[in-house]
Amino acid sequence: MSLHVLGCAGSLALGHHTTTFRIDADILLDAGSGLARVPLAELACIDHVLLTHSHIDHLLGVPLLVDGVLRLRTAAGRPPIAVHALPQTLDALSRHILNDVIWPDFTRLPRPEAPALTLHPLAVGDVLTLGSRQRRVRVLPAAHSVPAVGYAIHPQQAGGGVAFSGDTGPCPALWAALQREPVATLIIEAAFADHDAQLAARSGHHTPESLARELAALAGPRPFGALRLTHAKPGEEAAIAADLSRALATHGLTGLDVAPLREGERIAISPHPTKHVTLP
Ligand SMILES: [Zn+2]
Ligand SMILES: [Zn+2]
Repeated sequence: MSLHVLGCAGSLALGHHTTTFRIDADILLDAGSGLARVPLAELACIDHVLLTHSHIDHLLGVPLLVDGVLRLRTAAGRPPIAVHALPQTLDALSRHILNDVIWPDFTRLPRPEAPALTLHPLAVGDVLTLGSRQRRVRVLPAAHSVPAVGYAIHPQQAGGGVAFSGDTGPCPALWAALQREPVATLIIEAAFADHDAQLAARSGHHTPESLARELAALAGPRPFGALRLTHAKPGEEAAIAADLSRALATHGLTGLDVAPLREGERIAISPHPTKHVTLP
């Protein structure tokens, strides 16, 4: 199993795509502009989309994906693309995107009885088993400006795995969930540098300082092997990296395997309980 980083930026610019991760060939974790990095024939193999929340940087690819691969998927006899998310996220997608104004309602097209897209509500704590390879997905809590979740993805065997926070500010419930189910790699957001701390707090995002405070407050062993940071606003990467070094030192956090996530990188999702592995 692997996680392919197709987009991990907080906004758009040359070389920066918004949040899009692909698990193996058939599962998307958020559907941002990173889809534009994938050949059409591979896009047609995506059967499941897990959305963290309703913000456009995380779901702009859904309406375009379903339209773009419809012909190929119909010809191959593939099922509808299944979108999994909180009920509030699905409602926002239906009402504000797939509303026959912004985009056609593909939950009723090409025919109401055989749509190209189906919507599947979930709740924090749910465990989904997806695809023929039976990847196990646990829905994690998050604290953002709209209802939001994260996901932990595990191989069929217990242990290991990768967790993704989605967009979140400080969220004790997320750490409690991870402590019950540690992962090899935790992908967590740090969208803003510390000079934007007020904006981050108001919009439900982390800065390096708020993230380091949560890490320092953890009791017991860290529930992850490696930490990878995502969702930096383009142009803010250097400031975030400098703030992170300072915050980790201030809070006495040593020995952490921490680095920014890189667009294009692939992370192994193995049953090993703690080891983070970057694939070539
Ligand atoms: Zn957001
Ligand atoms: Zn976002």
